[in-house]
Amino acid sequence: MPISINPATGDIIEEYAEHTDSDIERALGNADLAYRDWRRSSLRDRSDLLMRIADGLEARKEDLGRIATLEMGKRIKEAVAEVEKCAMACRYYAEHGPQMIADDHRAGGPASENFVAYLPIGPILAVMPWNFPYWQCLRFVAPAVMAGNVALLKHASNVSRCALEIERVMLDAGAPQGVFQTLLISSSKVEGILKDRRIRAATLTGSEGAGAAVAATCGREIKTTVLELGGSDPFIVMPSADLPKAIDLGITARMQNNGQSCIAGKRFIVHADVYERYLEAYAERVEAMTLGDPMDAQTDLGPLSTQQGVADLKDQIDRSVKAGARLVAGGEAPEGPGFFYKASILADVPENAPAYREELFGPCAIMFKVTSIDEAIDLANDSDFGLGGAVFTNDRAEQDRFIRELDTGGTHINRMTASHPALPFGGVKLSGYGRELSHEGIRAFMNAKTVTRD
Ligand code: NAP
Repeated sequence: MPISINPATGDIIEEYAEHTDSDIERALGNADLAYRDWRRSSLRDRSDLLMRIADGLEARKEDLGRIATLEMGKRIKEAVAEVEKCAMACRYYAEHGPQMIADDHRAGGPASENFVAYLPIGPILAVMPWNFPYWQCLRFVAPAVMAGNVALLKHASNVSRCALEIERVMLDAGAPQGVFQTLLISSSKVEGILKDRRIRAATLTGSEGAGAAVAATCGREIKTTVLELGGSDPFIVMPSADLPKAIDLGITARMQNNGQSCIAGKRFIVHADVYERYLEAYAERVEAMTLGDPMDAQTDLGPLSTQQGVADLKDQIDRSVKAGARLVAGGEAPEGPGFFYKASILADVPENAPAYREELFGPCAIMFKVTSIDEAIDLANDSDFGLGGAVFTNDRAEQDRFIRELDTGGTHINRMTASHPALPFGGVKLSGYGRELSHEGIRAFMNAKTVTRD
């Protein structure tokens, strides 16, 4: 049964009845029916709907932000900003979507007219995580609506209220019945839904295990998937970097969302020439972070989303210290209610320590010292993940090498990694495949139909 628990207190907020098999059947039928009409809707109607969804999100941003903070513990300021970003993405697709999916005429073809028509493919199942409970969904839903597809959402079981509120925003904005539906179901029901012939594709954001399970089923069913999985992003600082900026953004990149972001800077790879200065200043900032109520605007770091999240992080840090890593700051869960863990730093991490290879999904920075750009690149690439990465250097030749040689879905120079609807987002290696956002994101779930006409 889906349960929402306030991570700041450990109190149960709400329990939800799971949707039954007949509810699922009804939702699939609704999606199928809705798609028959929505695929024929005009681009103008789709843009107008997205604009109204954006208005609805903006109008309710404080209230929606509070709901997310209560359910998964992110700081209220970040929760409201997340809702604003969702509204921005809806407006972005309302404005730019029609041109992204317009007929694409090609020169040199065999007929009088040769073009690619981008067409919708049908109902899509979205399996989403709790860490950005609105953004992860809307970054898929906005292009899906613009493309003429319809969506079913299976959200993480700890953010059911957010999932229901997204559905409400869509309906209040005038989305036709069945264009977007939330299913409150456990992950064991996902396979059956994916096998249903009415579902044409799936997108999953979450862990490798969940991604592999969904991709395996879709592979057998010959259905398209996009997977946005974990990451252990490098955050590289070279001698020519603007150090105060690299410290400031290094703190934000690691501690945003209480340390639970796929694109958080997790592995800090710092050149020996500036390593001691960087570590000292970074540690000072970490030690000064206030841990507390995410509803309080003064709080720097809120709780992790679940008790399990605290236990997993504690276990990874403890085992890393046992393997020889040095704890520079934090390293403990404070006494008292709620799922808190202190902002932490590990340094001198050996290759056999969990922190070297695994994703730490909580507020712990891992510091590495390197003596050359070659070593920085090799260390950054010595990971099973390849999501994003930030590099701080003012040396143009170094910048170009990092852009070409880091095995990641994104490289951000003198900036922290962040997604934006104008640019594609996704990873390589175990971080997944396919892209969300921008042209690549909307076209990921469209039929690029070849048309010739004489
Ligand atoms: P998770 O356990 O994989 O959960 C994500 C979603 O998948 C939830 O809705 C979950 O449902 C469902 N799920 C779990 N096992 C499944 C299965 N076998 N079949 C079908 N669905 C299944 O992920 P998490 O650990 O909570 O989330 C954190 C992970 O997500 C981190 O690794 C993070 O890096 C990654 N992430 C990636 C991105 C990105 O864009 N690349 C963004 C955010 C997070 P239940 O809740 O009901 O189990």
